[in-house]
Amino acid sequence: MKILTLETTCDETAAAVITDELNVLSSVVASQDELHQKFAGVVPEIAARAHLERCLPVIHEAVHKANLELSDIDAVAVAHMPGLAGSLLVGVTAAKTLAWLLDRPLIGINHLQGHIYACQVAFKKPIFPCIGLIISGGHSTIYHCRSPFDFEPLGGTIDDAAGESFDKVASMLGLPYPGGPSLSKCALNGDPKAYAFPRPFLNDSSRLDFSFSGLKTAVRYEIAGPGAVDFKSLVIDDQRKADIAASFEQAVVDCLVGKTMLAMQKTGISRVCVGGGVAANRRFREALEQRVAAEGGELMIAPMHLCTDNAVLGAIAIEKIKAGQVDDLSLDAVPGLIRS
Ligand code: ATP
Ligand code: MG
Ligand code: FE
Repeated sequence: MKILTLETTCDETAAAVITDELNVLSSVVASQDELHQKFAGVVPEIAARAHLERCLPVIHEAVHKANLELSDIDAVAVAHMPGLAGSLLVGVTAAKTLAWLLDRPLIGINHLQGHIYACQVAFKKPIFPCIGLIISGGHSTIYHCRSPFDFEPLGGTIDDAAGESFDKVASMLGLPYPGGPSLSKCALNGDPKAYAFPRPFLNDSSRLDFSFSGLKTAVRYEIAGPGAVDFKSLVIDDQRKADIAASFEQAVVDCLVGKTMLAMQKTGISRVCVGGGVAANRRFREALEQRVAAEGGELMIAPMHLCTDNAVLGAIAIEKIKAGQVDDLSLDAVPGLIRS
């Protein structure tokens, strides 16, 4: 069975063809980074319009790269939640149209569950039950994942997502968007102990939560103090920039790793799966690998190319097909998270 999966939840237009044995026959990602760069963040209307332009070429390229024709596709899956409303609508409409035209089953998937399922695709072994950590541009949540669709939130950010804080701090430091990769690169030359930035809740073992908003403000005060400032015209010495970047990155990593370890302790679950763009961060990967290994746990972090948004996340549709959870043409875009 060959499944065409579509991903348009945020600012990546992506399509992939995946078999029911989790072989990825093709995966195409059209990034919109250059369109959003000058705004230092994703502009929803621009994202939706760009999806519209790129959606069909990306689908055709994915089918072509898999050496198939559209008629060889056995099912169509699409990430229909959560995400930006306009962006989601493009993918959902394309998927519904294709499913109708080809007369094939349609499967709507949860993008966040897909981020964790990427570990099952990459490691080719069952990952459930596990502690699932999703750290991305829009979310920073720790789940108890009992099965592909049974995710119980154990805790998460009470304000900004980790990726968002990377993007904002990078922007303050005059580093290019997206901020995660550029800030990490800058941090390589810095001292992670140069500045003692806050690590909210880290020493509070009663909760599995994060808060990155105050950390962002602390960095802002360190760079420019509390008054109004034009960050674009601010000149920051290269070494100071690298030290601030490294100290900020270390603070985020300490919180993410600390709470993941606490989740292992609290639940007694020793397998940890991580997905989302921030999981591409090297300092984070190394720190978590060390700590989980020290506790005798099993760690699966999605490989770099499966961390940020891509359509291989849609492989979770296979589990839905197996469970008989197929959708019909009433499938809709659901921008917000429905907590059950
Ligand atoms: P969500 O999955 O919550 O809907 P999203 O899809 O926008 O949000 P992803 O594409 O999964 O998020 O991740 C993008 C985020 O990952 C951006 O905020 C980016 O800065 C961050 N990121 C990417 N690479 C790195 C890195 N090496 N270090 C830290 N952050 C990174
Ligand atoms: Mg993106
Ligand atoms: Fe994502």
